[in-house]
Amino acid sequence: MSAVPEKLRSYVADLDPERAVWVGGPTAADDGGTFAVHDPADDSEIAQVSDGGVSDAVRAVDAAADAFPAWAATAPRERGEALRKAFELMHAEAEELAGLMAWENGKSLADARAEVTYSAEFFRWFSEEAVRNEGNFGSSPAGGTRTIVTQRPVGVAAMVTPWNFPAAMATRKIGPALAAGCTVVLKPASETPLTALAVARILARAGVPEGVVNVVPTTSAGDVVTAWLDDSRVRKVSFTGSTGVGRHLLTQAADRVVNASMELGGNAPFVVGPDADIEAAVAGAMLAKFRNGGQACTAANRFYVHTDVIDDFVSRFGAEIETLTVGPAFEDNQIGPLITAQAHKKVVALVDQAVNAGARVAHRGDAPEGAGHFHPAMLLADVPADAALLAEEIFGPVAPVVAWSDDEEVLRLVNGTEFGLSAYVFGSLGWALPFAERIDAGMVGINRGLVSDPAAPFGGVKQSGIGREGGREGIREYLETQYFSVAWPS
Ligand code: NAP
Repeated sequence: MSAVPEKLRSYVADLDPERAVWVGGPTAADDGGTFAVHDPADDSEIAQVSDGGVSDAVRAVDAAADAFPAWAATAPRERGEALRKAFELMHAEAEELAGLMAWENGKSLADARAEVTYSAEFFRWFSEEAVRNEGNFGSSPAGGTRTIVTQRPVGVAAMVTPWNFPAAMATRKIGPALAAGCTVVLKPASETPLTALAVARILARAGVPEGVVNVVPTTSAGDVVTAWLDDSRVRKVSFTGSTGVGRHLLTQAADRVVNASMELGGNAPFVVGPDADIEAAVAGAMLAKFRNGGQACTAANRFYVHTDVIDDFVSRFGAEIETLTVGPAFEDNQIGPLITAQAHKKVVALVDQAVNAGARVAHRGDAPEGAGHFHPAMLLADVPADAALLAEEIFGPVAPVVAWSDDEEVLRLVNGTEFGLSAYVFGSLGWALPFAERIDAGMVGINRGLVSDPAAPFGGVKQSGIGREGGREGIREYLETQYFSVAWPS
């Protein structure tokens, strides 16, 4: 058993997990069913959580649809103040929330604390955006008419979130939705439903009225989300997760022409140019690769390093990698377990395939054996161009390095993917900026290994998604334009 603090066990018990279908408050699943949530550090059971089904999905929409007219009509300042209060309450509960994420997701306490700060920031940012809903007023070219253009909330928004950032992926959607005046039904990942429940409780305590935010944990994701997408009261779907599931939801959304935002998979290149500051590049690489143990959609997935600096980069990056401690979060490690045995198996298979094809394990840290899905941090050098781990999301603490010497050739490799979420470029600005402009990605970190920022538009191009979360753009995903054509006496 990992060393989970007693206080955290009480915090989870107090969440009342067997009444985790949050519809106007905590309720049990209609059929009374529950499922187990496990600690990925040792597979022990954390809690039994109510297992929502289709009837729970429908009553969540009932609650959200009933609450919508009043919430949409609530003064933007009041909606903003509820979000601001939720931001403060998240900070007041920061240690408990971080502990909860470390427990059900396995991430290190440092990563979990950083996620609490990042998640809370979406409530603060959108509390400020709630009062900046703009429109315009114009006159028609022919005269005799004035046009008034306004924005109004889309309606009930269905949200589906992944396990890797259990708090941030929820607040990044709920914040703008509530600011815009939408109400919400949310399905968290089955591995990490407890964090979503804690967030729902914080919003209720912050004064968000009953029915505005509803959460349905379930092991029947397809049934619950289909029930939502089949319901004419649901006017928006916002999904974060794999590209495969995203494609499927887009198809379902098409049937009823539902407004869809998709935050999907990535395959981020990390390019080190000939004149890069290698110390900065190594610091950026550590962050871009090992934050969340590599289980991030923005994780650097493939390192392209110029031949002039590759030896220096590999030796310094490798030395840092060997210092990383892998193990249970509550024993103060820097990298936790992978989320499931299946995820672990996939990373092992990708590494084996690359090594069999000629890659060399240049640096490798330690990882505990036995229970828990721990994988050592690794640097693979001399990786062949056709290795599967350069084309697929690794989602683990493995850094494959490839040498390059020609700008056009490396650009072809960088853009030779169906994904286009994030990228990282290190070098002088004179070289890095024009290079970055030619990368097909929604976000590029230039001389930094982190692109996530609540005040900036997060999202991808190509098969990494549609739409943006955060920034000025985030709230627009939950608004639609209405225009009044007004006869205007001359
Ligand atoms: P996933 O398997 O696609 O699951 C994501 C969510 O979709 C979970 O809540 C899951 O529920 C649900 N789901 C699965 N099948 C469904 C279906 N048929 N209908 C409706 N919902 C369904 O992805 P994941 O493994 O949790 O997350 C990792 C992926 O997310 C990676 O590809 C990563 O790059 C991506 N991601 C993207 C971003 C971004 O902002 N672009 C951020 C984080 C992660 P269950 O848990 O019950 O299966």
